[in-house]
Amino acid sequence: MSGCAEKKNPLICALCLMFRGDASQKETGVTDLKHVGEKVKRHEDSAQHLKHKIDLALLGTINNASQLSKDYRQQMNKYNEKVRINQELLSKIIDCIKVL
Ligand SMILES: [Zn+2]
Repeated sequence: MSGCAEKKNPLICALCLMFRGDASQKETGVTDLKHVGEKVKRHEDSAQHLKHKIDLALLGTINNASQLSKDYRQQMNKYNEKVRINQELLSKIIDCIKVL
């Protein structure tokens, strides 16, 4: 939480502000410092805050392959299929050599 105790500048959750991307939380931020602990706890248990925590944890970990173009994925699949066939062929050759 960050902010100022004055009514004009309520305490706001930096994480939610970052992922929400707007200043609307300023309207719902904490201005009552007597009950700040309860309000922070309630906010940290809210679905919106938990979603933002997950968004932060997943930041930069999204599988890039899922975002590749269709053509690039097809080329990658063809290449992987060639590698699989070559591996099978090599395995059979090795098996033949073992028998000899
Ligand atoms: Zn939050």
